[in-house]
Amino acid sequence: SISTGQDFDFFYFVQQWPGSYCDTKQSCCYPTTGKPEADFSIHGLWPNYNDGSYPSNCDHDSPFDSSKISNLIPKMQSDWPTLACPSGNGLKFWKHEWEKHGTCSESMLDHHAYFETALKLKDQLNLLQVLKSSGIEPDGGFYSLKSIKAAIKEGTGYMPGIECNVDESRNSQLYQIYMCVDSSGTSFINCPLFPRNRCSSQIEFPSF
Ligand code: 5GP
Ligand code: 5GP
Ligand code: 5GP
Repeated sequence: SISTGQDFDFFYFVQQWPGSYCDTKQSCCYPTTGKPEADFSIHGLWPNYNDGSYPSNCDHDSPFDSSKISNLIPKMQSDWPTLACPSGNGLKFWKHEWEKHGTCSESMLDHHAYFETALKLKDQLNLLQVLKSSGIEPDGGFYSLKSIKAAIKEGTGYMPGIECNVDESRNSQLYQIYMCVDSSGTSFINCPLFPRNRCSSQIEFPSF
């Protein structure tokens, strides 16, 4: 068949709640640039297939090159911070995301466009504000998974995928929010499918 130059179906745009990454048994390390804001931050923009599988590490000849995204670095430090240990400046996390995921959407988004697109998508969402508008706040309280999904659907027009992890006391908590994006990275779409979730029906929204 004739190639359309597109080798995946859609993107998951994944944001993480820093409080839920950090209050785990594994803990976290603030970036060398300082403690991030108490807001959702970007984990990644992941090409995916409609059947739930996904490509990875697609182009070994396209290594991460920070010089190609130098104008984006200040915004990436605030919107896409790394919380893994040991503390880093973000380059290692962004390199991992580019090489594992970004190289699989190069037919649509080049190196610079990939990172710029993720930053723009985050600006379009403001998930924390959307949740707060429904009375769902990072106050260590428990909220129903249903109410969190409904608030995001109401505030953005799209149903999210929700991923939970557990804190040191084994409480299920809001860890990552998945939104689906068309393969050009332009528009949010209804998700063709949602990632498996391991959430309890009531989940914690820890502070950060
Ligand atoms: P985990 O096993 O912690 O859920 O995911 C580990 C890594 O696998 C993620 O950081 C991400 O790189 C990749 N991954 C997990 N689930 C998905 C998915 O549904 N789609 C894509 N594209 N990548 C995923
Ligand atoms: P994935 O393969 O799931 O897309 O990305 C996860 C990888 O990025 C892991 O190797 C993890 O250690 C690293 N990483 C660095 N900083 C962060 C962070 O702030 N959050 C997450 N989830 N992973 C991070
Ligand atoms: P990776 O091997 O891809 O760096 O990470 C494997 C898993 O451990 C991922 O779910 C990642 O988010 C998590 N992880 C890696 N480093 C850290 C860390 O420093 N703190 C926390 N809380 N999780 C981490």
